[in-house]
Amino acid sequence: IVRMEKVNKFFGSLHVLQDIDLSVTHGEVVVIIGASGSGKSTLIRCINGLEEFQHGHIEVDGNQLLPNGKSSKSLQTIRTEVGMVFQQFNLFPHLSVRDNVTLAPIKVRGTSESDAIENADRLLEQVNIADQADKLPGQLSGGQQQRVALARALAMEPRLMLFDEPTSALDPEMIGEVLDAMRELAKAGMTMMIVTHEMGFAREVADRVIYIHKGQIVEQGKPEEVFDNPQNERTQSFLGRVL
Ligand code: ATP
Ligand code: MG
Repeated sequence: IVRMEKVNKFFGSLHVLQDIDLSVTHGEVVVIIGASGSGKSTLIRCINGLEEFQHGHIEVDGNQLLPNGKSSKSLQTIRTEVGMVFQQFNLFPHLSVRDNVTLAPIKVRGTSESDAIENADRLLEQVNIADQADKLPGQLSGGQQQRVALARALAMEPRLMLFDEPTSALDPEMIGEVLDAMRELAKAGMTMMIVTHEMGFAREVADRVIYIHKGQIVEQGKPEEVFDNPQNERTQSFLGRVL
């Protein structure tokens, strides 16, 4: 569903992504790990066009993204097909939880209000937060808000879900409930690309772990291969610091 070929990105003279070749198949759960500043967020953000890249080519569910933002039409399609959850929840503070979830389907997809509400309530149930539907985001805990953000992304029926450190702004006791919701989603067969520092979670849900160092994929494989028997010296030293 995703194919990146020789993707290169620069911020000025900084070469943040170097010849990234990466394909993700339907239903696959890919976890991306690496040190701060290695380019994890940039990589994820290129896939839904939040960042432009300078060389190479990205295909998402048959839609092409070209260098330097020359793909405005497919970008629209990609944005409606790819859901994203960030470290910051970015909920609309003046809208109820339910309205946060129904807004995009109604505005972008043209879903009827009654269908959107029915779907929102089902999704809020799925992320175990149905009882909070009438509250404002500010009245919820961080873990609850992040689960609303997840439900909101799912309401657009995405073909692919991107996660950029979804639990790193949360108090420790709330991390588990967000990871649980993500685990359920993975079990249900969603294609997911996840940047996280939660190595236990990565080991458990990932079909593949990718280690990125200074904008390059230096190692990838099944979690047990990468975590238990890393081949690259950089991966070994990174894991030595975080495990
Ligand atoms: P972290 O784990 O801290 O989130 P990361 O792996 O997600 O790090 P990126 O955010 O992708 O790293 O950043 C990669 C590099 O690009 C870093 O050196 C960063 O300083 C630089 N960078 C990121 N965004 C910009 C920007 N908008 N302008 C200039 N440089 C940027
Ligand atoms: Mg980042």
